[in-house]
Amino acid sequence: MAPSDPHDSQQLHPSTKVLTEGFDPRLSVGSARPAVFRSSTYVFSSPEAAERAFDLSAGRARAEEGEAVDLIYSRFNHPNAEILEDQVVALEDGATAALAFNCGMAAIMTALLTLLRPGQSIIYTVPIYGGTQHFIQDYLSAWGVVGVLVHSGQTERLDHAIATAENLAVVLLETPANPTLMMTDIRRASATAAERKTRDSESRPVVIVDNTLLGPAFQHPLTLGADLVAYSGTKYLSGFSDMLAGVLLAKDPELIRRIRPTRGLFGTILQPDECWLLTGRLPTVRLRMSRASKNAQRIAEALASNPKVKRVIYPTLFPDADQRRIYEKQCDYPGAMFSLDFAGGKRAAFDFLRHLRVARNAVSLGGVETLACHPKTTTHSGFAEEEFRQAGVTDGLVRVSVGIEDWRDLLADFEQALAAV
Ligand SMILES: *Cc1c(COP(=O)(O)O)cnc(C)c1O
Repeated sequence: MAPSDPHDSQQLHPSTKVLTEGFDPRLSVGSARPAVFRSSTYVFSSPEAAERAFDLSAGRARAEEGEAVDLIYSRFNHPNAEILEDQVVALEDGATAALAFNCGMAAIMTALLTLLRPGQSIIYTVPIYGGTQHFIQDYLSAWGVVGVLVHSGQTERLDHAIATAENLAVVLLETPANPTLMMTDIRRASATAAERKTRDSESRPVVIVDNTLLGPAFQHPLTLGADLVAYSGTKYLSGFSDMLAGVLLAKDPELIRRIRPTRGLFGTILQPDECWLLTGRLPTVRLRMSRASKNAQRIAEALASNPKVKRVIYPTLFPDADQRRIYEKQCDYPGAMFSLDFAGGKRAAFDFLRHLRVARNAVSLGGVETLACHPKTTTHSGFAEEEFRQAGVTDGLVRVSVGIEDWRDLLADFEQALAAV
């Protein structure tokens, strides 16, 4: 089967598509894997081709089906970004187009600055990534954008906010939330957002899902009605805690066409070497995530009965019926993050972290190595007391990102650290 045949390739599964699509060896002198094109500028095939490339880049013209367009300058686009984008589309169910960014925050900020104008509002779920919250509350607000905060897990309240917020332009969901893994019903929120258009002929708010914690392997927001998926590629996509990257993916290529010029203006595109590195990591994302999720499930469920731990937060252990319903409906597997809550508070949490030998005490997540941190004093330390309470970030909470080590070694490590608490 010719990998370039779009009709045949639609039958293929993501793990096959990522290895057969989006890269033409003929454009890399026959190299079986992509070359790196580090050039900052590109030679035009003719002055007419240069004129056409600028018209297309500025949005003054629309490319014909199959039209070959000259590259211009690497802040706008370059071959390694194109290869990465085509291959990451293959991994995300429901996606047709993507953009690569130099980190997750760059992806989120570039999307929001394209889609929001002063006087418009954005609904967002909390807990949400700290940088995202800071950007909405402290930067966008100063530019006249109204942020409407809804706590994750409050399904009715989110519906109400989406139905009633004035001049609503964006709904930004982060699910599961970090570090409490509270889930938001993507299908329901997207349906409520879609109803606004039919009700009062407003334009439909764009629904964005930060899918960093469960995608692209276990949660597929674009098939549940979301418009845009955002990733910190720094986490599972790259997987080795050795680079920063971000990705946006859309169901409708028009949305990506809208955001692309903002990326070109801000220079938030991922550099060629990093694109090449990330492209090489994509074929193993599902393998790494599957192994890490199986490890995490075994360990979380084993630790649930350990008397030293007050509570293990993990999707298969959710006590709340609505949270269980959302998990079962929209996630294929529970993922590789869990949190432990210690009755002994900060002191117990610190003792536990101090005694880990296999797992390391570090922030970030999604790498092949297991990392653990104390959110209250690190990733979430900027919160006010009320925010800690509402987000469920307690003194005794430890967040764990499980890697691909042998799960028996990890469980033994956690058990010996618990014994020292
Ligand atoms: C890490 C992270 C981000 C930010 O990504 P960077 O690559 O660090 O810019 C955004 N959202 C979530 C859920 C994250 O975990």
